[in-house]
Amino acid sequence: MIRYSRIDPLNGPAACPVHGVPMCTDSVPIVYGLPLITQEFSRAQADLFPCANTSRGGGCLVQQEAQATVRYCPRCREEKKAWLDVHGAEL
Ligand SMILES: [Zn+2]
Repeated sequence: MIRYSRIDPLNGPAACPVHGVPMCTDSVPIVYGLPLITQEFSRAQADLFPCANTSRGGGCLVQQEAQATVRYCPRCREEKKAWLDVHGAEL
C-alpha cells in the first residue's frame, strides 16, 4: 500500500514550470478521500496554476497527519485565486 505521507514533499522542481519563479514552502492541510473536481478546474489547474498546492491529497485511507509541507509557486496561487473568483469553487 502506498503511504502518501511518506513521500518527501520537498522533492520536485525548484522552479514553477509555468511561471519560472522559485518555489516556496508552506504547510497545507492534507485532504483525505477522492478529490471531486470539475474537468474545467482540472484543465485550468494543469495549464494555469499547476503548482498552487493549496492542499495535499492524502489518499483514501485517513491517517493521523493533518498538515503536510509542500512546495508551491506564489504566482500559481494568485492565478488559482483569480480563476476561482471568476469560475467559483473548485468543487
Ligand atoms: Zn507558477
